[in-house]
This record gives sequence, C-alpha cells and structure tokens, in this order.
Amino acid sequence: MKLSIDISELIQLGKKMLPEGVDFFLDETPIIFDPIDIELSAGKEISISDLDPGSSLISYQGRQVLLYIRDHTNSYDAAIEDGKKGKRFHIAWCKTLDSMRQKNRFERYHATNRVDGLFEIDDGLGRSQDATLRVCMNCLERLNYKGSIDKQQKKSIFNSFSLDEFFLNYSTCFRHIPKGIHDKSNSGYVKNWKEISKSTRDNANYICSDCGVNLISSKKLCDVHHKNGVKYDNSAENLIVLCKDCHRKQPMHAWIFIAQSDMEIIQRLRSQQGLLKTESWKDVYDITDPSIHGDIHIMQNKGYPQPIIGLVLNNSKGEAITTVAAAWPSIKIAINLTAVEVEGWQVFTVGELVKEIQSGVNF
Ligand SMILES: [Zn+2]
Ligand SMILES: [Zn+2]
Ligand SMILES: [Zn+2]
Repeated sequence: MKLSIDISELIQLGKKMLPEGVDFFLDETPIIFDPIDIELSAGKEISISDLDPGSSLISYQGRQVLLYIRDHTNSYDAAIEDGKKGKRFHIAWCKTLDSMRQKNRFERYHATNRVDGLFEIDDGLGRSQDATLRVCMNCLERLNYKGSIDKQQKKSIFNSFSLDEFFLNYSTCFRHIPKGIHDKSNSGYVKNWKEISKSTRDNANYICSDCGVNLISSKKLCDVHHKNGVKYDNSAENLIVLCKDCHRKQPMHAWIFIAQSDMEIIQRLRSQQGLLKTESWKDVYDITDPSIHGDIHIMQNKGYPQPIIGLVLNNSKGEAITTVAAAWPSIKIAINLTAVEVEGWQVFTVGELVKEIQSGVNF
C-alpha cells in the first residue's frame, strides 16, 4: 500500500505568503510515503533483533530511527509539562542502550522516525499525548556529535540540539530518508527559476565556486545558491554555483539531503581533479562528509595528524581495493561510510572510531 498526499492547499498557502508580484510554485508530484515510514512515525514497539546490526547509529530497515520509552507511568504529567523531566530519547548505541542490551531489557523501547521532536508517551493507565522529550547526552558523546566528547560542548549541543539537522548530518549513512525531511529546495522560487538556474550553471561551466569541483558529468549535483537567502532575488551578484556538498554546508542549509551515492560521486570527481589536498583541519572538514566529522575530530583531539581524504587502499599485491573517506597511512587507520576489509588496515565505519578511542585504545 502506498499513500499519496494532495498538496494543492499548501501551494495556495505558499502563494499568499510571498510578496506581491512574486510567483510561487512547488513541484506538484505527490509525496509518496512507505507503510514502514507511516508505522514508524506513530512510534513502533521494537525488539533489539528487529534493528539493523553493525552501526553506531540506530537503524531499522535502512532508515535512521530514534529509540524512546513510551511508558512514563511515574513521570507522565511532569514530562508533558517539561520535556526535560521525561525520559531521554536515543540517537546512537550509547552506553545506556548497551547496558540495556546486555540485561535483555530492551523490549521497553519504541522506534520512531519523527523529526519534529515530539514523542507519544503514555501514563500506563490509558492516557497518551505528545511530549517534547530531549536527547540522551551519552548518545551525543558516543558519536562525538559536533565535538560532544568535551563536557562543556556537550551541554551546549544538548541545549541547541535539532533533530532535522542531526538526521541530515548522517543522511549518507542510510538508504531511506526519514519522513518529515524532504528537499525543500523548490519552494519559494520564481516561476522561471529553472531557466535562470540552468543559464547560471552554464555560465559557470558547472564548477563549484567553493571547492572547485567540475560537475559537467553530473549536472544534477550542481546547485545555484542565493547568497542573501532570498530565493526571489536572482540578481547576478546574489547567485553562486555550488556543488551539493558545499551547498549543504552553507549556514541554514541543513535541509539539503545528500545520498551516499551522490557524495561518492562528488568525492570521486574531486579526487580525479586533484581537489582533495588539504592544508588545514578546516580544509579537512570542508571536503568531508559530516557523518565522519565526529571520528575525525576525536583523532584531531588526540593529536593525530590530518588524514588523507579519499585515499585508495591497496592489498599486499598492490592492487587497488577501495577508496576510503579518510585515512591515516602511518598508523593504517581509516574511516569509511560503508564497511570494507583491506588487509593490513583497520577501517572503521561512522562512530566506531570514537568508540574505540573512548574505550582507551591508542594507535
Ligand atoms: Zn543514549
Ligand atoms: Zn563544492
Ligand atoms: Zn542555497
């Protein structure tokens, strides 16, 4: 069963919200929701064996999910009034979840893919309502999310935590985008935007003005960005051509979803075009996928040198096996979005290097 949603009313509303004389359009193709996504949005009771194995992030059938405890028997009213008094939701396999897993107390959790920060909880007596639960701090630390291994930093990340942003930082790790997040990039543009966009990109030869990657062979990964954020201001000085990766790293652009396959194409082109050389740690973060930033940051924090980005790893016969996202050749450590086995190397997936180092390992 597939459901489609009629968005014509939304389009009418959009027209009302823009200044006079500006046309509004939204792609009118219906949004298709998969039944699994619908089930997850209502909160699905889950047992540990239902979850996808082998990741630091929590995944269900290829979708990124959150885990929370629905039963708030003794704290229901307090949690409804103030989400901080409710039970925390989990975004990663933190030490709290690990100990639950060991004690086999896992059946109490529900999984959800909602990104609005609301979680349906109940009082055990038949009452239920949405509460604004807060993120688990151990989870933040577990992923070193935005530098959360530092206690002060963790507190400030906790206070400003946004689920939208979190999901999009890890979009490349999952096969399916969560319900509630979709590319909002075609709302609020003027009617002839497609032509403006095409001629702007043509004039720039599909070269990203930030990282310099030439996307003539993958034009769909080439965007036009409005510097002042106003999408109907299409004056030449307000428009700039960016690759999708540089575009999503602009302020207030965390809504741009990028699939793993697309990120791989961008990295491959950058590599072929000699653009993956870095001089500073800032360069390292600028040209890598945000999902591996926690792992890179912990290496920086421990005093390891800058990694090589997009390194080709060879086996003992000198044959190229794979290209990894980031690597430290002197200690034969690498991070990659997908698990790969390369003789003589330890290749970690997202969040696993954080776990290894936090457990006291030195390379
Ligand atoms: Zn947690
Ligand atoms: Zn770029
Ligand atoms: Zn933009």
